Formats: sequence, C-alpha cells, structure tokens
Amino acid sequence: AKSAGRSAFRVFAPEMAEEAQRRTEMEIDLRGAAQAGQLWLAFQPKVDLDRDTITGCEALLRWDHPKHGPISPVDFIPIAEDSGLILPIGEWALETACRQGRAWLDAGLPPVSIAVNISAAQLFQRDPVAWVAGTLERTGFPADLLELELTESQLAQDVETAIDVFRQLRGLGIRLAIDDFGTGYSSLEYLRRFDVTSLKIDRSFVDGMLAEPGDAAIVRAAIALAHSFGLSAIAEGVETEAHRRCLRELRCDQIQGYLVSRPVPADEFATLLLRR
Ligand code: C2E
Ligand code: CA
Ligand code: CA
Ligand code: CA
Repeated sequence: AKSAGRSAFRVFAPEMAEEAQRRTEMEIDLRGAAQAGQLWLAFQPKVDLDRDTITGCEALLRWDHPKHGPISPVDFIPIAEDSGLILPIGEWALETACRQGRAWLDAGLPPVSIAVNISAAQLFQRDPVAWVAGTLERTGFPADLLELELTESQLAQDVETAIDVFRQLRGLGIRLAIDDFGTGYSSLEYLRRFDVTSLKIDRSFVDGMLAEPGDAAIVRAAIALAHSFGLSAIAEGVETEAHRRCLRELRCDQIQGYLVSRPVPADEFATLLLRR
C-alpha cells in the first residue's frame, strides 16, 4: 500500500503543481481585476409566485478575464476567499449593488430588493455592521431593500459571533437569507437561533424534486419549516414550468432560475423589470 501511495504521488504531483500555479496566477490577476474594470455584477430576478411579479434580484459576480474570457465565480470565489481578496472584492460588490439599486430607484423603476452574497471572512471581519451601514449611507440605498445571503457552512465557522452579527444587521433593517438551505447539517438549530428572513432552497433539491421522492420531501419540508418560523421560502434553480407549478402547489413564496431569466447585466434587468 505504501509503494502504491508513493507512485500515486508521483503521478499526481505534476498536476498538483499545475493546479497550484494556476491558482497563483489567478490570484495575481484577480488582485487587479476590480480596479481594471474586469468585474461586474449580473442580476437574476426573484419572482413572487402569487403575484407573478419580480420583487427582487440576486447580484452575482462576473469576471471577464482579458486573456481567458469569462471566469465562473465557482472558480474564482474560493481563490478570493483563500487569499483574503474576498474582502476588497466583497466590498466592491456590495457598494456596486447598492449604487445600482439607488440608480434604479432614481430612474423611477419599481422598488426591488437586491440580494448580495457574503462570505464567512466578510461576516467575521472587524466590524461588518459598520461596513454594511456605511455602504447604505454612502449609496443612499434603503436598508429594507437590501438582503444578504449566507450559507449554513459559512455561519458554522463561528456560530455565536454569527448570531450576534445577524442580530445587529437585522437591527439596521436589512433582510438576511440562509443560502443553499438543506445542504448543511444543522438547519433546524440555525432556524431557531438565527434572526433570518428567508430560506433559499438549494437548487439540487429543486432539480431532483419531480423525479426523486426524497428531494420532493426535502423541498416540501423546507417550505413548511420556513413558514412555521415566519420566513419566506425561495426556490433557486427553477428551470421548467413543471418546477414552477409544483412549487406553487407547495406554497413556495418566490422562485429564481433560468425559467424566469438567467443572471443578466443591469440594463437588461431594468428592461425585464419594466416589461413585467
Ligand atoms: P449561489 O449563491 O448559490 O448562486 C446561485 C447560482 O445558481 C448562480 O451561479 C446562478 O447563476 C445559478 N443559477 C441560477 N438559476 C439557475 C438555474 O435555473 N439553473 C442552474 N443550473 N443554475 C442556476 P453563479 O452565478 O455561477 O454563482 C455561483 C456561486 O458563486 C454562487 O452560488 C455564490 O456562492 C458565489 N458568488 C457569486 N457572486 C458572489 C459574490 O458577490 N460574493 C460571494 N461571496 N460569492 C458569490
Ligand atoms: Ca446566493
Ligand atoms: Ca444558493
Ligand atoms: Ca449554490
């Protein structure tokens, strides 16, 4: 077994070195990306199922690399998190989302909430509440239209601090969502202890709910749980009319997914908003 391990190491070592170099290069490029104007936010609508109207959107980071083209956040967010770059990039994202929201309001568009994804390092930085409050003040974006999305695994890094920060953030009047709900292990405890306003049901369950009874059961239970805690339930990854019909029957509050729209640039989102 020992020699197998050694030969396996020899086989994989070059790939690991390549991967490490790729990450280092990406980190260097990412460092200047915001300044160079290579980062932008895409906005994906959230639709209220009863009223069939767009009530909000999620802001999603996009990186157009000058040499490699578009790079997915699935690839660069982990690198930003490991390198600490998530702090300046996350600041840029929140500030940009709030400015955009203010601009839409000033243009007379119907008010919609904007959700921004937050990483653990941002939640546990020195004064996350002052940062969020300062951004709202600088941009003039109303607190009650801002929502922050955090995953259970991010909260798990320091539950007591997270609970405290959540309480203070809620005090500002903003909304808080638990993202990718159902993929962690402490969902029930979190619902009891965290002051949140909505649950986002992970798209893996939505994806499987029409074929897999287990996934359907999780979606149904998550919606019921959200409601029994007085929270709004939102399903992500809604791709088909059949998904929508099923979620409506289950009394889900909101949907988000390719069925309504892919994440789009700000001007396209404004067009969607005016059309509906
Ligand atoms: P997430 O927060 O779970 O975001 C939802 C992801 O699902 C987005 O991927 C979105 O484009 C995708 N999606 C939406 N509707 C559908 C659908 O109907 N079908 C399928 N298959 N996918 C759908 P995206 O934009 O690639 O973002 C991936 C992840 O990157 C996000 O997952 C989030 O964890 C992270 N991320 C994106 N922007 C930020 C940011 O500003 N800050 C932080 N910390 N993380 C971010
Ligand atoms: Ca999210
Ligand atoms: Ca999610
Ligand atoms: Ca996800």
